[in-house]
Amino acid sequence: MEFELTDEQTAYQDLARQFSDGELAPFAAQWDEKEEFPKAVLNKAGELGFCGLYTPEAAGGLGLPRLDASIIFEELARGCTSTAAFLTIHNMALWMVASFGEAAARDKFCPGLVSGEKLASYCLTEPGAGSDAAALKTAARRVAGGYVLDGVKAFISGAGDTDVLVVMARLVNGEVAQQGASGICAFAVEAESTGIGFGRKEAKMGWNSQPTRQVIFENVFVPEGHRLGAEGDGFKIAMKGLDGGRINIATCSVGTAQAAVEQSRTYLGERKAFGQFIGSFQGLQFKLADMATNLVASRQMVRLAAAKLDRGSPDATTYCAMAKRFATDMCFEVCNDALQLHGGYGYIKEFPLERHVRDTRVHQILEGTNEIMRVIIGRRLLLDSTAAVL
Ligand SMILES: Cc1cc2nc3c(=O)[nH]c(=O)nc-3n(C[C@H](O)[C@H](O)[C@H](O)COP(=O)(O)OP(=O)(O)OC[C@H]3O[C@@H](n4cnc5c(N)ncnc54)[C@H](O)[C@@H]3O)c2cc1C
Repeated sequence: MEFELTDEQTAYQDLARQFSDGELAPFAAQWDEKEEFPKAVLNKAGELGFCGLYTPEAAGGLGLPRLDASIIFEELARGCTSTAAFLTIHNMALWMVASFGEAAARDKFCPGLVSGEKLASYCLTEPGAGSDAAALKTAARRVAGGYVLDGVKAFISGAGDTDVLVVMARLVNGEVAQQGASGICAFAVEAESTGIGFGRKEAKMGWNSQPTRQVIFENVFVPEGHRLGAEGDGFKIAMKGLDGGRINIATCSVGTAQAAVEQSRTYLGERKAFGQFIGSFQGLQFKLADMATNLVASRQMVRLAAAKLDRGSPDATTYCAMAKRFATDMCFEVCNDALQLHGGYGYIKEFPLERHVRDTRVHQILEGTNEIMRVIIGRRLLLDSTAAVL
């Protein structure tokens, strides 16, 4: 068992830190305030390979292990949580196209998505189907040469500003919808296809450097070659994407908490109260100690889950759920504690703490709520053989 980073991982970490310090951190507050989606910066990230980190090399990606990708995402989130989080969703959607698409879909979509000139969204949630995603109703009717999609997707990150939509939809033969998870197909769909419309940009608590919108499909034709995997495999493919996605989102919480701890450490040595630096109060030293401990525990949990996914462990899904639950809860608390350590200054926008709290809050909700993570973990512990997990 090796806990130190390899030379190669350290080199990627340095590269990502440089990019984060130069291209993300200085602008994060402005993007948040003005709700700007920094597409040009995402394009620059693509030039460094950050848009296709774990996409197979055959499809033009770097083909990195998830562990290495998480080391990079952590550094990016240290600079801008929201932009890094969008980049993780783009990476997940691209990986799905590259891994499960036929040549027609791979050749058409992967080059632009890898380079960052084009961006992708992941479309699973619907207005009436979030946690119970297998209840989705968007229909995929078989027609000559492909499928026609009808339905509405909700809360889609990047929607309206992205070029490729990875869409999960229910197969309908004639008038009969195929029920259950096994009736779902996944598709790569051009966002500018005829019949696609977008809802208003949602006004959100955080994640303001990326738009969130509904996507409305009305009679949208998708060629057969743009289906990902076999008919009926869509839900499995969507969940495979989310295993890695959950590591990524958890990593974004870790990177943000790292920034919050660093900022708190500095502040404890600068701010005075009662004639002394507030860092001299043991109560605050204990608080900082707990924050750092929870941060490191979260990081290790995320890296363990990533290593399990890289090795194809049968328990990878459970570990990804545990890491997502633990790291997003712990790191949200770390950011909130950091805000408290800054007193009134923590609450105003001149300091980044309130943004860290707003941005990490949604990580407890999306890519499966933390209640659903407990459902996944509990089911494995109680219904299956527990030996491997424990
Ligand atoms: C900013 C943002 C960006 C998003 N981006 C995307 C995206 O890009 N693509 C996409 O597909 N989706 C996206 N989502 C959607 C997100 O994944 C869903 O909001 C999430 O899965 C929860 O679904 P829901 O909102 O319908 O809540 P519901 O499913 O209605 O849940 C409501 C509450 O009930 C709880 N609950 C539900 N079932 C159970 C159960 N069995 N046991 C215990 N508790 C339960 C939930 O945990 C939650 O607390 C995004 C959401 C947000 C807020």
